[in-house]
Amino acid sequence: MGEVAAMHAPTAVRLSLKSYRRITVKIGSALLVDRATGLKRDWLEALAADVGRLAAGGAEILVVSSGAIALGRTILGLSRKALKLEESQAAAAVGQIALAGAWSDALGRNGLKSGQILLTLGDTEERRRYLNARATVSTLLKMKAVPVINENDTVATSEIRYGDNDRLAARVATMMGADLLVLLSDIDGLYTAPPARDPNAAFLPLVERITPEIEAMAGGAASELSRGGMRTKIDAGKIATAAGTAMIITAGQRMSPLSAIERGERFTLFKPSSHPVKGYKTWIAGQLEPAGHLTVDEGAAKALNSGKSLLPAGVKRVSGNFSRGDTVAILAPDGREIARGLVAYDAVDALRIAGLKSAEIDNVLGYHGRSAMIHRDDLVVGDADQADGG
Ligand code: GLU
Repeated sequence: MGEVAAMHAPTAVRLSLKSYRRITVKIGSALLVDRATGLKRDWLEALAADVGRLAAGGAEILVVSSGAIALGRTILGLSRKALKLEESQAAAAVGQIALAGAWSDALGRNGLKSGQILLTLGDTEERRRYLNARATVSTLLKMKAVPVINENDTVATSEIRYGDNDRLAARVATMMGADLLVLLSDIDGLYTAPPARDPNAAFLPLVERITPEIEAMAGGAASELSRGGMRTKIDAGKIATAAGTAMIITAGQRMSPLSAIERGERFTLFKPSSHPVKGYKTWIAGQLEPAGHLTVDEGAAKALNSGKSLLPAGVKRVSGNFSRGDTVAILAPDGREIARGLVAYDAVDALRIAGLKSAEIDNVLGYHGRSAMIHRDDLVVGDADQADGG
């Protein structure tokens, strides 16, 4: 409890954004779009000026902007009704073109070029596409253009979508090795409980690491216009901090919310891990949905912690319909996630060899298989910094 008490201390955190070299800024729909009147141009102008100022100081900025669906609804006059999936997708098509134009104009007035990137879940979850997306975004940055990123909502269906831009922004930030992710939200940071429902909720200025207690504070509720609530923000924090990216949650409604951070307005800062995962392992650690789960015994859990591969002998249970090369989560006997990795076997074969000694595997499989279920080069194990292996 000592740790939680320390986090409750009302010490404001002072921060200059100038020390960050690559910053991803995520903007929620409710900040940019008013249901009745459409785009909030003055607010966007002021934010673009903030971005221009940071860029002039030498930082590279990536914008992850929501608002396509909300803006499309307003333009099409659909603001009142609940939309079917294909209607949201059509609204996103109309909204995105206006949104991207508005960003391009606003950044242009601050001397910045911009380029639109629309991502689909597979673009970050499949390794080859991840590398392609990363190459394009880094080329844009080299050309001094600000990437303006959103989910490709017009083609995303429920099974293959991020669904919220918080986790999308974290995936982009870590893919690009950003040192800071700023989530501009309709709430000014993390509280011990949802403040709208609990008058005793205390504000947390600093989160040293995302513990199960911190996760419990997030609850599940989202605000009306955006899909992401505190839950998806904490998930974003886990992805970001595990890869060494600090994260800020702050209120975006005020004008110039990035300047406001530097003026000392309220925000919650999530510190990056002191042992961040690197390179290829960043991609593994940040995978949004593991394709399956392997439950291991105590011995295997210990071996993983000391940097060993996961052998079939230590696997107690196999679940999910995964293929060789998919990301699976590794669970301790008590069900806690302790690691993630790329599995060397399809689920059917993993089931057949779970619990077997390496010498027995070939006989059962009828071919010469790999001795490890997950090789240590393909494993990301939670360390003292990350409660669940992120
Ligand atoms: N991609 C959605 C949009 O632009 C927003 C998703 C979210 O609210 O997080 O409308």
